[in-house]
Amino acid sequence: LIEPVFHGHRARSDVWFSFVNKHHGHKFNHGHALVMSGPPGQGGAARLAARGALRIGAGLVTVGCPMRAVTEHAVQLTAIMVKGLDGTHGLGEILEDKRITGLCLGPGLGLGPATADLVRIALEAKRGTVLDADALSRFQRKPDVLFDMLHDNCVLTPHGGEFARLFPDLAERLDAQENTATYSKVDATREAAKRAGCVVLFKGADTVIAAPDGRCSINAAVGDRAVPWLATAGAGDVLAGMITGLLARGFDAMSAAETGAWLHVEAARSFGPGLIAEDLPEELPKVFRALG
Ligand code: AMP
Ligand code: MG
Repeated sequence: LIEPVFHGHRARSDVWFSFVNKHHGHKFNHGHALVMSGPPGQGGAARLAARGALRIGAGLVTVGCPMRAVTEHAVQLTAIMVKGLDGTHGLGEILEDKRITGLCLGPGLGLGPATADLVRIALEAKRGTVLDADALSRFQRKPDVLFDMLHDNCVLTPHGGEFARLFPDLAERLDAQENTATYSKVDATREAAKRAGCVVLFKGADTVIAAPDGRCSINAAVGDRAVPWLATAGAGDVLAGMITGLLARGFDAMSAAETGAWLHVEAARSFGPGLIAEDLPEELPKVFRALG
């Protein structure tokens, strides 16, 4: 099996191409990303995702949250907008605005009963959608309910634990084989994407990204690209937001996932131990400048 490694030149051309011919555009040409947040007190993850979406170039970013969490977000955000939404009804209403082109659910969303309903409403809207963290964990023991709702403009971004909650048999098989040539993370991710019916990005030092049609790539953060300090609280939330920003900009699910993962590691590479999640979005302008 030849494992396909994703090389930066594709991310480079994709990102730059997405800005070409937009010299006379306005912010709505660059997409509007909506990051959903949960109850007060756990919104940090959603703000990290929102920051990732904004820094990767989404024209507008809104954090949507329960009314009682508005103040918490508002005191901490400036360029990012905050919108109090009245539950699933509120989400449905805001999604009538077709200019919202990217959705992110999971970071800071919470594991309460509302989460599954919010995911359902979001998926019915058929926008580019990233599901991560709580939006995945909420469907533990009933992953088929989630898979039935997914569409081909979705990206799931599980880490090892979340992957095992959605695909327990694949995770078990992977563990049993210890990632040998007979059953690798590539095989497991490919199978997961087929089952889910959308792009699956299985995180780790060797992030594997697969589409239901069998396309697959590895974003390897090993060897001279090793960034072990990226294993830090909130790093995954920033990644989810970055991919959402690219979806909002019009990237298809597979290229958004590949390009987002590649840029995430590039941003981490200029740091060392001591990197915190907040650093990652702020580094993106430098990464982009180096690409040009
Ligand atoms: P999360 O667990 O959701 O915060 O996501 C963790 C992020 O860190 C993902 O983007 C992983 O790919 C990345 N990551 C985790 N461990 C490593 C590692 N050892 N080397 C490089 N990146 C890692
Ligand atoms: Mg996470």
